[in-house]
Amino acid sequence: MSDEANPFESLGKQIEEASAYLDLGDDVLTRLKHPERVLETNLSVAMDDGSIELFRAYRSQFNGDRGPYKGGIRYHPGVTRDEVKALSGWMVYKCAIVDIPYGGGKGGIVIDPSEYSESELERVTRAFATELRPIIGEDRDIPAPDVNTGQREMNWIKDTYETLENTTAPGVITGKAIDSGGSAGRVEATGRSVMLAAREVFEYLEEDISEATVAVQGYGNAGSVAAKLIDDLGADVVAVSDSSGAVYNPDGFDARAVKSFKTETGSVTGYEKATEELTNDELLTLDVDLLVPAALENAIDGELAEDVRADVIVEAANGPLTPEADDVLTDAGVHVVPDILANAGGVTVSYFEWVQNRQRFAWTEERVNEELERVIVDAFDALTTSYEKTDAPNLRTAAYVVAIERVANAYEQGGTWP
Ligand code: NAD
Repeated sequence: MSDEANPFESLGKQIEEASAYLDLGDDVLTRLKHPERVLETNLSVAMDDGSIELFRAYRSQFNGDRGPYKGGIRYHPGVTRDEVKALSGWMVYKCAIVDIPYGGGKGGIVIDPSEYSESELERVTRAFATELRPIIGEDRDIPAPDVNTGQREMNWIKDTYETLENTTAPGVITGKAIDSGGSAGRVEATGRSVMLAAREVFEYLEEDISEATVAVQGYGNAGSVAAKLIDDLGADVVAVSDSSGAVYNPDGFDARAVKSFKTETGSVTGYEKATEELTNDELLTLDVDLLVPAALENAIDGELAEDVRADVIVEAANGPLTPEADDVLTDAGVHVVPDILANAGGVTVSYFEWVQNRQRFAWTEERVNEELERVIVDAFDALTTSYEKTDAPNLRTAAYVVAIERVANAYEQGGTWP
């Protein structure tokens, strides 16, 4: 997360902006802006050389009015309490816009995992799982992977929890390997929802996506899968990038071939079918029909937004536009499908994983993809209905209006007790 904006303050601003279109009491608004609780702990972990190191760790349980808290665990030296609180809040509204029965949570450990051995990371992860054990559970709080964590860490957390609880409870965590109870279709789920969001917004705008030119910033899991599936719709993926730079060809790339090249060489730069190499800022300001930022937060700030020439942006990354960029793009009439909907495929298929774990019955990949399509299309319809009904300035605010209303309704229907 960049230093420029305190993410927790940005979350508060987004909620306030959207709440202007809803009739909420001050007590409800305050609740919607603050986490219910935050665990802050220090993990004492033995290193391979016998020394003990301390790691600060957090788990924020933001809101559980619609179901168990849900959200990833991040390993990064820049993790802060405010970042974890904000990310947990965004999870609440992400789960609400796609209408899956979860609240929001997020966790993090202040650590640079590249500096530790696998056995040290396992002990750090198991120490955190031990701290989390009293507050997580299939019906309480269900963590998942986030930055620098994946199937390996999820499998360790599941094993620690099940060992300490003397039970089997694969639904305590999602994003597991298939053999440990993971779901088919999970790896491609985020890119798939980005493709579905792009398809839906083009249809809404009465534009033909098969005629569109597309630029994708960030060619990792989310970006490369989105590019491949958008390519399958007939669009031309003309530019892609990663942290080492961007490649461009006005006639379009074969998105799968670029991915194979990146897997072989470690980067998209140097790809032989590129007619030009660009900087990431040049990619973000290309004259394309669709721009997919799929790298990091705050990729486009207010200044760069002035030069953006894409007609439509579908946010694969979390928070790729600063609030200032959002204002500039709204004024310029650029349609931005917000992250909480566009990249919600990941959490949606995590939900399917949990459902399968609870039922002890695995779905086919075809069923996962069909159910995901239904969820994203329904969410997009709710978003555009809200956009037209409320006169919200942009699709992001309209999405928050839908999501906040759902959370506030659940809270108000439950009443206050004691
Ligand atoms: P990843 O690590 O697989 O890929 C990230 C890509 O971005 C890499 O290709 C990297 O080289 C590139 N990158 C990094 N810095 C860059 C820069 N400055 N300019 C251009 N490219 C840069 O990560 P991912 O899982 O694809 O996640 C990408 C984004 O999508 C993140 O914001 C993440 O929070 C969000 N997201 C991912 C998922 C998921 O299920 N993978 C779900 C929801 C949201």
